Amino acid sequence: MRIQNLINGHLVDPIAGQWLDVRAPANGQVYASLANSDKSDVVRAVSAAENAFPQWSNTTITERSAILMKIAEAIEEKQDTLATAESTDNGKPLTLAKKVDIPRAAENFRFFAHAITQFSSESHESIGLHTINYTLRQPIGVVGCISPWNLPLYLFTWKIAPALAAGNCVIAKPSEITPVTANILGELCLKAGLPKGVLNIINGRGDSAGQAIISHPKIKAISFTGGSKTGAQIATTAAPMFKKLSLELGGKNPNIIFADCDYSTMLKTTLRSSFSNQGQICLCGSRIFVERTIYDQFKKDFVKAVTSLKVGNPADSETDIGALVSLSHLNKVKSYIDTTPQEGGTILCGGDVLKIPHLESGYYISPCVIEVTSNTCRLNQEEIFGPVVTLMPFDTEAEALAMANDVPYGLSATVWTNDLKRSMRMSEKLESGIVWVNTWMQRDLRTPFGGVKDSGVGREGGTEALRFFTEAKNVCINYSE
Ligand code: NAD
Repeated sequence: MRIQNLINGHLVDPIAGQWLDVRAPANGQVYASLANSDKSDVVRAVSAAENAFPQWSNTTITERSAILMKIAEAIEEKQDTLATAESTDNGKPLTLAKKVDIPRAAENFRFFAHAITQFSSESHESIGLHTINYTLRQPIGVVGCISPWNLPLYLFTWKIAPALAAGNCVIAKPSEITPVTANILGELCLKAGLPKGVLNIINGRGDSAGQAIISHPKIKAISFTGGSKTGAQIATTAAPMFKKLSLELGGKNPNIIFADCDYSTMLKTTLRSSFSNQGQICLCGSRIFVERTIYDQFKKDFVKAVTSLKVGNPADSETDIGALVSLSHLNKVKSYIDTTPQEGGTILCGGDVLKIPHLESGYYISPCVIEVTSNTCRLNQEEIFGPVVTLMPFDTEAEALAMANDVPYGLSATVWTNDLKRSMRMSEKLESGIVWVNTWMQRDLRTPFGGVKDSGVGREGGTEALRFFTEAKNVCINYSE
């Protein structure tokens, strides 16, 4: 399979003729080659997007909404193909891709197809002065959308759907590690009637294609999801060019369990919030803090549940944990696990590199639970982004809160308690963009999504995304005689 670029409605080879290998994590084999694009490809794409902008930004809301709706339907029609492609490309269980990734990609388009019809702006009347101010929310022009490998189509569509709905033309780059579904989507968009040049997909590495997108002077806004270090690099380039920036970055999220919670729901959900997608979700609760009175019981029950998870071929319907996304990521995750003794921790289960029969070159690690004695150890401070969680007891609400907040990150937090007042006190004080009480990853697409501290800048979701992808212009009219 050859994955080209989508520029001005055509699939084209990269100008320099360079290609990258794409590997299937389940077996480590190369199965596709990907356009290794550079600045010249980005220049070409931006010029196509600029040409398409005057017409696209002037389509009626009804027309734009209808096209987005058709894209949602096209994703649903192709859901089996897309789910299989996502699982092959990423290593995630096929069941997960079918249940979560692909339906959510369709939902992203459907949601913003509706949201744009309800998007409104403000007016301010100055009584007594015969003046009225109103705000125009105008599309920005050409915008850049850059997405990571963990939820490939889910996050790619989460960016491009609001950007297109708001009337922008897009230069999008999926991760070079998992590019397949984004490129299938490009073709679906054309079939659904998206005019040529409105969505351009540039493939390739972050330090060439990605860097060319963020430094192109005609790209006025960048929506990026990925690692915090990359986010900082992007800001260094884009901020002095006065680009609008939305940065959704890493996390090291606390999962705080009080003794008065609904124990069985908590245990089931904690298994999911720890190891879904091999722990490769920015929202995974990787630091588990448990009230001391139930700590030993939880430790026993949790470890038992974790050891019963089935690691294996992502294509098997019984698989709970598939392959990690790449060999270099597997090595990174394993190197963290190997620091356990020097970080003062104890491995309670898992953490072994596994050889799955017939898939010996795949990237598998058994889900790992580590008991730690201090929140300041590297295992609790740095994002591992794999099937690894730490456990620690606490005695008081204040202690749990202090440890939860004592990290550079602030993306999400989960609190398990049936004490309403306590849940509200915790929600108020937790330093994170999202707090879940007695649940995890329950998403309503209208809500603001994003993090504080090193987890990012800006918010996505609902009106926040449409506001990001538009420029507010105030018009002041004096109608006095
Ligand atoms: P990454 O930062 O390595 O790459 C993300 C994307 O940025 C890729 O498309 C990559 O090619 C591109 N890129 C890399 N360097 C670039 C540069 N200099 N200029 C422009 N683009 C560049 O991240 P990853 O390893 O793909 O994803 C994992 C990270 O993403 C984790 O840290 C995870 O927490 C984070 N993440 C955050 C959220 C969120 O919503 N906050 C969601 C998912 C993942």
